Amino acid sequence: MAGRNSLYIPGPTNVPQRIRNAFAIEQQDMRAVDFPEFTQPLFEDLKKIFKTEEGRVFVFPASGTGGWEAAITNMLSEGDQVLMSHYGQFSWLWVQMCKRFGLNVIEEEVDWGDGVPLKRYAEILEADKGKKIQGVFVTHSETATGVKSDVAAVRKILDELDHPALLFVDAVSSLASMDFRMDEWGVDACVSGSQKGFMLPAGLGIVGISQKGLEAERRSTLHRSFFSFEDMIASNDTGYFPYTPNTLYLKGLRESVDMLLEEGLENVYARHRRLANAVREAVKAWGLSLVAKHEDLYSDTVSAIRVPEGFDGNEVVRHCYKHYDLSLSVSLGKIAGKAFRIGHLGDLNELMVLTPLIGAEMAMKDLGMDIELGSGVAAAQEYLRQK
Ligand SMILES: *Cc1c(COP(=O)(O)O)cnc(C)c1O
Repeated sequence: MAGRNSLYIPGPTNVPQRIRNAFAIEQQDMRAVDFPEFTQPLFEDLKKIFKTEEGRVFVFPASGTGGWEAAITNMLSEGDQVLMSHYGQFSWLWVQMCKRFGLNVIEEEVDWGDGVPLKRYAEILEADKGKKIQGVFVTHSETATGVKSDVAAVRKILDELDHPALLFVDAVSSLASMDFRMDEWGVDACVSGSQKGFMLPAGLGIVGISQKGLEAERRSTLHRSFFSFEDMIASNDTGYFPYTPNTLYLKGLRESVDMLLEEGLENVYARHRRLANAVREAVKAWGLSLVAKHEDLYSDTVSAIRVPEGFDGNEVVRHCYKHYDLSLSVSLGKIAGKAFRIGHLGDLNELMVLTPLIGAEMAMKDLGMDIELGSGVAAAQEYLRQK
């Protein structure tokens, strides 16, 4: 097929040419005497992306899932009570991982379309008079449903109760795209990956840990080896890694961090908000709705769009791929078939964000849905030219 695939899934995202160029180099000597001159400023600048001054950032040759494992195994002990909730595929998988590691999970099941259950968290934490709960978990942007959760509000609950539990946040599909403040929100573990806001291929688990999280590491007894913070700290402090790092990814990450800081994080967040709003205008014009139940819950990186009764959202995705070389994302788990997803994060501008709208409109019409061609696209165009 001529032309190129249009990739609008919530990770991997488009890799900008600047980053691809950073990959197109010779292999690097990761024990060279000048290697720390490259790594140490990178570790420092990564902290700016997490908005942490007191914490530190680890880069593992892994994916976001590896980042979860690193945070859990370094900071918790077998049998520890943890408070978790699931409201989509990723928050659910995180719960499964904690169970596999023998944690005692207090599990709140939430409707897909809602976010972290603040009221239930407050009740459960308040009832925990002995302060036995060691960790509280939030998925900031639930990629399966396009729902954003209020991390700052969870911190507020913990502070008001003077509860010492560690705050674990999955920011895989929000960091470097949506407002995130590790220090201000008192996040103890912030998990991210390379293939979403960082605009790299999949291959890095990037994890921010607070001082309190690093202290917890000294007490925690879960087994870790490849993901050991202790080993990482010992090597990183001298500018090296405990094993062969994927150096080309680090070069790409350097470029990514530069691009994000050059644009300015606030501008990056505003751009994602604006492009997401354009997608939401299109959804409204189609007469459809999002899985996310109300505006405060809208994620700016991914939209899960409900299809009308009697239609299959995953058929829309297959049709787009087959006929228009457009990659959208299927709906998973509890909402499988009920929706389709558009990823709108990373290296993206106005005209690029119209592309998935054009294709989705055509596919929905092809499949017999009552959609007027151009309606969503025009609504998005109007929004983008006025704001
Ligand atoms: C993508 C994603 C993950 C998983 O990351 P992998 O890199 O696929 O391991 C976890 N959580 C969220 C919210 C995600 O979007």
